[in-house]
Amino acid sequence: MKFVPTPLSPAELELQRDVRRFIAEELPADHQPGLGMGSGFDPAFSKKLAARGWVGMAVPKEFGGHARTAVDRFIVTEELLAVGAPLGAHFVADRQTAPAIVKFGSDWQREFFIPKIVAGECWFSLGMSEPDSGSDLSSVRSAARQVEGGWLLNGTKIWTSGAHRTHYFAVLCRTSPAEDKHQGLSQLIVDLRSDGVEIRPIPFLNGAHGFNEVHMSDVFVPDEMMLGEEGSGWRQVTSELAYERSGPDRFLSTFGLVKYLIAERAADGLTVEQQRAVGQLAARYWTIRQMSLSIARAIDDGGAPAVEASLVKDIGTRFEQRVIDVVRDVVEVQLRADSSSTFERLLAEAVLTGPSFTLRGGTTEVLRSIVAKGLRNV
Ligand SMILES: Cc1cc2nc3c(=O)[nH]c(=O)nc-3n(C[C@H](O)[C@H](O)[C@H](O)COP(=O)(O)OP(=O)(O)OC[C@H]3O[C@@H](n4cnc5c(N)ncnc54)[C@H](O)[C@@H]3O)c2cc1C
Repeated sequence: MKFVPTPLSPAELELQRDVRRFIAEELPADHQPGLGMGSGFDPAFSKKLAARGWVGMAVPKEFGGHARTAVDRFIVTEELLAVGAPLGAHFVADRQTAPAIVKFGSDWQREFFIPKIVAGECWFSLGMSEPDSGSDLSSVRSAARQVEGGWLLNGTKIWTSGAHRTHYFAVLCRTSPAEDKHQGLSQLIVDLRSDGVEIRPIPFLNGAHGFNEVHMSDVFVPDEMMLGEEGSGWRQVTSELAYERSGPDRFLSTFGLVKYLIAERAADGLTVEQQRAVGQLAARYWTIRQMSLSIARAIDDGGAPAVEASLVKDIGTRFEQRVIDVVRDVVEVQLRADSSSTFERLLAEAVLTGPSFTLRGGTTEVLRSIVAKGLRNV
């Protein structure tokens, strides 16, 4: 397990300034900051970002991407998340589907999907979890059988974020029986508007529609939509999860609360207790940021820091929850989702959605087990 201090180069600091200028000029005037990657869904904003070369940044040029580094992508993502920018449309495709298609996809898939993703025009959801399979994904029961020209897919996916608005999702399903349940799994790219796909909303505690249950009944999936080789779904999904875990989206969701607390209450002066809380949260934030940045640098240097990524996700998401508790401890506030104060509105949302931070993308317990196994191998 290795974390190395990672100062930003002059070119990287210039990129950071460039993103800040872009945000000042291009964020819609009526922008309401959201909480991290759960913030707004704004196709026009996604396209503007893409036009600046900030979607599909790390995708190689030969596939239509920008061949930038993981650190560059970190910088852009961090700045956008810090202002609660509306990244919902392209975020999943950019973070993990594009890298998965580049790594495992066919030439046809790369030509068909990657330019659209890089243009901010093609959005993906993740079709992994099922009603009885979450942490233990190898027990998925969705299954596809081969028919002429493709596959006939049946099953149910759950907690599918954004499926009511995205174009496709990559479905982990069983394509052949196997004694070892990690074998015989594949990933099929499914058009969410296909015949036989039914998307039912699951409201969050605050009533918002973020995720869904997706039923697939005899959905025909053409052969060219098999992602990677048939039977290699388990290897692909676990590799994809590594992209999901260590970025700024795993520790920045609630830090905006601290910013808006300072902005809105500074005129009356923060109490000593509030100042101490802000200082402690800022110090902790900076430490986790350094760890996450170190992972991005290690990826650019050719490393595969999967264990480090699990640790950052565990620490980062617990930090996101701690911010909510600490802020509530030091500020007297009535929780109101319709408050005109950004701080109060976001705090109300954070209280209701915060418990999910340590579940999505892998639970704390499962991540710790990965870290423990990784340490055992050191
Ligand atoms: C906001 C949000 C968005 C999501 N979006 C998506 C999405 O877009 N696509 C998608 O596919 N999924 C999505 N998920 C699902 C998420 O990945 C799962 O909730 C998560 O993997 C846990 O699975 P589960 O809910 O079935 O819980 P379970 O796996 O049933 O776990 C229940 C409890 O048991 C513990 N546990 C399970 N196994 C072990 C073990 N081996 N050792 C120790 N403890 C264990 C867990 O830590 C947890 O506390 C989302 C979830 C949330 C909250």
